[in-house]
Amino acid sequence: MNSMKLEHEMLKGRCECGTVKFEVESGIQALSHCHCSMCRRLHGAAFATFATVDSCAFRILSGELQLARYRSSADVVRTFCSECGSTLIADAVEDESVRYVSMGALEGDPPHPPAVHEFVTSKAHWYEIRDDGPQYEKSSP
Ligand SMILES: [Zn+2]
Ligand SMILES: [Zn+2]
Repeated sequence: MNSMKLEHEMLKGRCECGTVKFEVESGIQALSHCHCSMCRRLHGAAFATFATVDSCAFRILSGELQLARYRSSADVVRTFCSECGSTLIADAVEDESVRYVSMGALEGDPPHPPAVHEFVTSKAHWYEIRDDGPQYEKSSP
C-alpha cells in the first residue's frame, strides 16, 4: 500500500446524533480491536475498534461544548457526545502525540493498516476471534 496516500487521506467522523463532527487531516496509522473490559463496557460491544491518528491532524468541527470526558483508568481518558452517548476518542494521558478514534464513528471506508487485537486475555467469553490479525496480551508494541 502507498504510505504517502495514507498520509494525506482526509478522515471525517461524527457521533450518532450529529452534534459532534470532526476531521483528521491525515491517515490511519494503526487499527486495533481492544478487548479490555473497559472498552467492552464503554462501547457496549464485544470489543472496541480504534484508529490511531496524529493528534496534530485531529480537529473538532462542531459540538465542542457537548463533549464529555471520562477517565476510565489512570492513564486513559475517553471522550464522548453528551447528547447521544457515542464514544468517540480515547486518549492516553502520557502520550499526547496520537489519539485513538472510534473506527465506528468514521465515515466511508478509509484505507487502514491490517487490524490487531489487544488485551485478548480480557476478551468476552461469548466472542471468538476468527481472523488472522496478531493478538497481544496487552497493547500492541
Ligand atoms: Zn451525539
Ligand atoms: Zn480497551
